[in-house]
Formats: sequence, C-alpha cells, structure tokens
Amino acid sequence: MAALPIHRPSDARDSDPGQPAAPEGRCTEHLKRVPELRADRERIRNAAFSLACQLDRSRLLARHEMEAHARAILAALNLPEAYVGWTMVALGTAFWRDQVMSVPTSRRLLLLPHCLRDTGACPAEYDEFGLRCQDCGACRLTGLRELARQKGYRVLIAEGSPIVLKIILAGHVDAVMGVACLIRLDAAGKCDQARLVFLNAGDGPVPADEAAAGLQGNSITEGSARAASLHASEKEIEPLGNLHATPAFQRPLARVLARRAILTANERARQASAA
Ligand code: SF4
Repeated sequence: MAALPIHRPSDARDSDPGQPAAPEGRCTEHLKRVPELRADRERIRNAAFSLACQLDRSRLLARHEMEAHARAILAALNLPEAYVGWTMVALGTAFWRDQVMSVPTSRRLLLLPHCLRDTGACPAEYDEFGLRCQDCGACRLTGLRELARQKGYRVLIAEGSPIVLKIILAGHVDAVMGVACLIRLDAAGKCDQARLVFLNAGDGPVPADEAAAGLQGNSITEGSARAASLHASEKEIEPLGNLHATPAFQRPLARVLARRAILTANERARQASAA
C-alpha cells in the first residue's frame, strides 16, 4: 500500500522538469528484493524517516532523486543494492506522511483491488465507478470498506486507472492510498510479471517476492497458484495477529486469499490479452 497527496497537473512544474524520467524499458527486477529481516526493514524505515525530515517537502521528489537517496541510505547501512525499490517506497511513505496526515480523511481516497472479491460468490456488478460491492461478506472487501468508512475515507474498488484519474481531476479528493496487484501475461499466455503484496501480514505491506518469482515464466494454474500462495503464507509473511485473529488463523487465511487473488488476476490478464 502507498499513500500520497495529489499534485494536479498545474503543480507538475515543481517536479524538477530539467531531469529526465526513468529510462523506458530499464530492467529493475534486481532492485526489488524485500529485506528479509525485520531489523533491516526497521533500520531502513528509520533512516528514510530521518532523511525525509531534512528534504524540501514543498516540491515533488523526482524518481531519480528518490533512487539516489535510497542508494545512499543502503550504502550508509551497508545493505545490498537489491533493496533499492523497497527503500524508495519507505522513503516515499516518510516523505509524504505529514502531507497525507494533514488531509482530512473525508478528502482521502482508499483504492482497493477488485481481485480480492470472491468471484464465485460476488453479487456485485461494475459500473463507471468500478465494482459496486454489496457488502455480502464473502470477501475481505466488506471489512476493509467498513473500516475505511468508519474513518471517513472515500473508497473505490477500481477496475483501472481512468476512473481514479477522473476523480482526482474533478477535485473530489486530496490524497490517495492504494493497494495494487499486478500479473502480466506474455503473448504465449505465460506469466511475464507478478507482484504479490500482503497487508495485515507483517509490520507493513509485505511483498512476497519469492512466491511471485515462482509464478513468472510459467502458465498459471490452480496448482501453481496454490503452491505460490502456500509458499508466501508459510515463508514470506509474518502475521502479527490482532483483536480479531491470531497469527495461526491469519496465515491460512492469507494463503486462501492469495490463491484467489492470483487466479483472478491471471484470468483478468488473460481476458485483457485476448481483447
Ligand atoms: S463483499 Fe462485496 S466485493 Fe466481496 S464478494 Fe461480497 S459483494 Fe463482492
């Protein structure tokens, strides 16, 4: 999950236009490893927070600047370059934290992924605003929506980015928090790219890179989705438990939800590829 305040196009001139964007097609897979140890993640978060406090937060932080800062943090902590992507997320979160917190919750938008829905049981239909959840309780979207509503957030279960952009440009919200899941298929129908990120399964969003890597390069089947979700739930997440569930309960729940999300995302990617 990531959160950021919105800078509409009129603000874009502040984003260091003299610097080039990240080169298209640059391979960054080797930079996306998640620090395995919680201690390392904490060290990175603390360093990112300290650094963010020193940065000029009156203007956007360009991507190449974030990467340079992330590399400096890792070098100072003597941690591998492979954590650059994760460190950039930590830095971005720290950088925007105060600005997002200063936005009233009624002006914040929570984006949820529709791949979380139970495709077998879901009675909801899509309209121009995305999935119209009926709160039937068959999937976690009911609970997440309720929690967000209690805090005053607007909630959107979006199918794609156009509606999100429309809402932003219409001026309805000033900050967006989002959850994303991505699976991309190549021309042969094999999984080209996969990202698995768990919430409430650790001390922050927990990417399951090993499980995702196991999906890449292969056709996704019920068996491979089951294997990936089993690996992620047993080896890559660290459920902490909460008032409603123990870690022992959360782990198999994460496995089931992950398997469903993988299969749903694969089906949608297949349909998109065929369109
Ligand atoms: S809770 Fe909402 S999204 Fe989930 S299955 Fe029920 S209607 Fe569909």
